[in-house]
Amino acid sequence: MLRLKGFCLSLLLSLPLQPALAASDNGQTLDLKQYSDREKLPDFTAAACPDMARGLTQIKNNLYRHTTGNGLAVHSGLVLITKEGALVIDPAQSCTSKWLLNEIKTRFNVPVKYVIYTHGHADHISGSQIFQDNGATVVANQRAVEPIIGEKLDTALPNKVFDKDMKITLGGETVLLHHVAPSHSDSMTMVLFPDYKALQCTDVCESKTMPYNDLLDFYYPGWIETLDWVIKQDVDVIDVGHYTPATRQDQQALRTYLVSLHQQVLDLVRAGQSWDQLYRNVKFSPEVQAWTGFATMKMANVQGMYRWVSSHRRGAW
Ligand SMILES: [Zn+2]
Repeated sequence: MLRLKGFCLSLLLSLPLQPALAASDNGQTLDLKQYSDREKLPDFTAAACPDMARGLTQIKNNLYRHTTGNGLAVHSGLVLITKEGALVIDPAQSCTSKWLLNEIKTRFNVPVKYVIYTHGHADHISGSQIFQDNGATVVANQRAVEPIIGEKLDTALPNKVFDKDMKITLGGETVLLHHVAPSHSDSMTMVLFPDYKALQCTDVCESKTMPYNDLLDFYYPGWIETLDWVIKQDVDVIDVGHYTPATRQDQQALRTYLVSLHQQVLDLVRAGQSWDQLYRNVKFSPEVQAWTGFATMKMANVQGMYRWVSSHRRGAW
């Protein structure tokens, strides 16, 4: 009996320590100490919001989607639940982050191990300090550090950063992070869940919705390059960070719209039209006219593209 016990113990000690369940990533550690006394402005998402609509709904198997807000005002991100812990994309803004952390703990009995930033805009990344303070590793493209510090955002700086690619393994599942090009900001991260054929493509992808306002913080060629990359992925669900999840076909339609908008504005500028003439002469397809937000966003979209064309004047795309 004793000998058997000794045998079992030595067998146990010789086994590797659950290799499938050892979280790992190949990100670069950011030395946060150097930023410890950085200035912060008040967090506009911090006010209590007990009546704000919020949810955590299943997309496929272990993949979920968190939402904050209603209808057009929804902010969203995918959430992967594994035995080892959860991975959350964007932290749902400060007034909802605590709820999301508790919801994951209550429903699945796991901690949040990773929070990934889609890009360095405050409306998507506020609230992450709540996860970081509870042990999560915050990850972002390295280009997101500068705007967080420069814009004095009261949110967590990333613990880990990457340039082009990063891989996270959590609970035996694989998550791939990729920076294609400057598109909607220069710090965009695409997050791919290959086993689920799912992609997070926040703000640079759309869901039969107009791009927001004057296309703020956008880079035209990189936006097209990013959409080309998205269209090539083997995915059937794309969370766009807002509204409802989308498809690759939706991104093809968005690409067609942006190329047409760019070409029309370029042609009108080259024909010598002033802004006052130009904005009346841009044509929209019936498909685009049916998109959510068309009436309120069309003028601002033309204005954003007019600014881009005025600054760059190149048309060989
Ligand atoms: Zn944004």
